[in-house]
Formats: sequence, C-alpha cells, structure tokens
Amino acid sequence: MKIPFFQPCIDGETELSVLEVLRSGWLTTGSKTLEFEKKFAEYVGTDNAVMVNSGTAALHLCMAALDLQPGDEVITTPYTFAATAEVVEYFNAKPVFVDVRKDTLNINEKSIEERINSRTRAIIPVHFAGHPCEMNTIMEIADRHNLLIVEDAAHCTPAYYQGRPVGSLGHCTCFSFYANKCITTGEGGMVTTADSSLADKIRSLRLHGLSKDAVNRYQKSGSWEYDIIARGYKYNPTDISAAIGLGQLKQADSFHRERKKIAAWYTERLQDIPEIHIPKEAGGVDSSWHLFPIRLCGQLQGRRNGVIDELRKREISVSVHFKPLHLHSYYADKYAYRPEDFPVANEAYQGLITLPVYPGLNDKQVDFIVKNLIEILHE
Ligand SMILES: *Cc1c(COP(=O)(O)O)cnc(C)c1O
Repeated sequence: MKIPFFQPCIDGETELSVLEVLRSGWLTTGSKTLEFEKKFAEYVGTDNAVMVNSGTAALHLCMAALDLQPGDEVITTPYTFAATAEVVEYFNAKPVFVDVRKDTLNINEKSIEERINSRTRAIIPVHFAGHPCEMNTIMEIADRHNLLIVEDAAHCTPAYYQGRPVGSLGHCTCFSFYANKCITTGEGGMVTTADSSLADKIRSLRLHGLSKDAVNRYQKSGSWEYDIIARGYKYNPTDISAAIGLGQLKQADSFHRERKKIAAWYTERLQDIPEIHIPKEAGGVDSSWHLFPIRLCGQLQGRRNGVIDELRKREISVSVHFKPLHLHSYYADKYAYRPEDFPVANEAYQGLITLPVYPGLNDKQVDFIVKNLIEILHE
C-alpha cells in the first residue's frame, strides 16, 4: 500500500469553474478574486480579506504596511517555516525568536515580554499545525506595548480559539493556499483584518502601490488612469486561483471534519505508547489538524531519521515540521545561534515525525501507517 504525504482534493464543480474562468477572457485579478475575498472574510468572521499570490506575500505585505525599518525587531518563534522570519529580514529588521511551549510547539507566551524593547514593532504568532496560540495573552501583551499582531495562520483554514475563527483574532492574519495546505489554490494566500484602512493599504501594495482607483481598474468603475502612491509589489492573484479557492472554501468544513476524524484515529492507536508524544487540543481550542506531528521521546528520539527512512522503504511518506530556523545556516551564522539557545524547539525537532493527514485518507491506511510505525519501533 503506497501512501503519499499529501493529496489535494479538487472536486468536479471546482474544475468546471476554472474552465469557466479560462473561457471568460479574464484571467488575472478580477471578479472571482473579489468573490473569494468576500466569502473568505465571511468565513473567518471579519470585514476584510485581501488575496495575494502566496502566504509569504501575505506576511511580507503586513510587514510593509507596518513600514518596518532597518534595525526594527519582530518577535516570532524558530519553530516555523522559512517564510515567517524571512519577511522580517527583507527589511533588514531582526526576527527575535522566543522558544516554544513544550505541549503545542506554539510561541511560549510567558516568555514574550522579556524580549520586548523600544525597537520591537510586531509579534508574529505561528499557529503550529493548526493549533491556535494563546491569543488572549498575546493580544494583551500587544496592547500593553502597542505592537501589531500578525498571525501566521498558514495552517488554519479553519481553526477556532474560544469559539472564534482564526482570522478574526489579531490585527491581521495571514493564510496560505500552497498546494499541500488545508485548502489550496495551487499557490496563493490571504490577509484578513478588521481594519479597513490597513486592508486598503495591503490591496494597493499587492499591485505596485497603485492608487485605489487604479487598483479597481478591473471593475466597471475603474479608469485607465493610475497613480503610484507607494513602492509596491507584484503580488496580486489570478482569477484562476481564486476560482479554485472558491471551490475549496465550499469544502473547507467537510475537509476539516475528515482531518479531525483522522487525528482521532491516530490518537486512538498511538495514545498508549509511552515513548510517543502525540498532539492534543488544549481546552477551548478547535485545531484545523493540518498536521499530525508525533514526537519520539526518550530512547527512541535518536532513531527518528532511521524510522523515516524505513517508513519510506515501505512506501509511507512522512515529513518533519519543522527544522527550527535557528538550526539553519543562514540564521545560525548571522546571529551566532547554538542549538541549545532554544532548547524546547531543538528537543522537539530531534524526535519529530509528521504523519499524513488529508481528506480521503481512510482508516485502513491509518492502520497500515501505525502498524508499520510500531513494527519499526520494535525492531
Ligand atoms: C506554508 C507556510 C507559509 C508560507 O506560505 P506560502 O503560501 O508557501 O508562501 C508560511 N508559514 C508557515 C508556517 C507555512 O507552513
């Protein structure tokens, strides 16, 4: 039985809507993008959503809207993908890492305040694997120090914190629709915010910093004339990807139910093995279950790479989320980090294996994955 790490799930209706765009004569940002933005804002319960061509672009434009300056600091964690910190580096500003909590691998909110100083401008909490961070505490800290909260919600379509959807919690929230995320547009991203002037700024920055009238050129009211009001970027999405996004958003809740079911199957089968730490939802949290990252503990920790190799030999694809940023050459060299500088992140990474989770993965496949994993561990 061959098990891929991920498989996108695109239905027939979505295929047809893409064909419709292809035949419409309008391929770039247009009415489909507007419709997807409107539906997405409704879905996460906020007023504004701005689509861009990647999750990285979403994060970058939030930093640009903040007018981040060289030497400024932005607090985040090392337990994330390259994008979260690189968007800070773009401005010659400094990503300041705070170690993660042992249970969720999210930012340890208790350690944030000790890293805040006069140069701190923003916090980027990463909702790792789709499990929301302790947002009440983080928002309080941000209020106290007048900082912008930009959530990295790449794993969160959808996730809920105390009954509220991620996307309506912080000042702005960045989603990714990369090929293997909860919902996909091939490549794509979204910024959501309750702040309409921030949304306007990001909408202009995603298209060369053009004035509002020019940004609306694709609408009937638009004119040929444009003014460049800021140094912007070329991050606007296509209507082709927006059409895929609309189809995926319709399925987002049923995808979510399937991922929850898969997480429950893994939990049932793995929870009694003391050497394996499995992810659990904290109270008041409804995770997206984008990923199911298990951690080999104690004696087993050192065997992680061998276990992955053996699973691959048995045609079971797994992954590792993430190799912490401070262990990567660029950050280690630039900031002279040692692995033990962020001990929780470092320790978690050593034993971590991400198991497959995606709609369509059935209980027999989960049985097969778990059976092989246990067999390998007993060897
Ligand atoms: C995927 C991902 C991103 C970047 O999204 P892209 O759409 O690939 O640019 C950012 N942060 C995290 C945590 C991610 O997993």
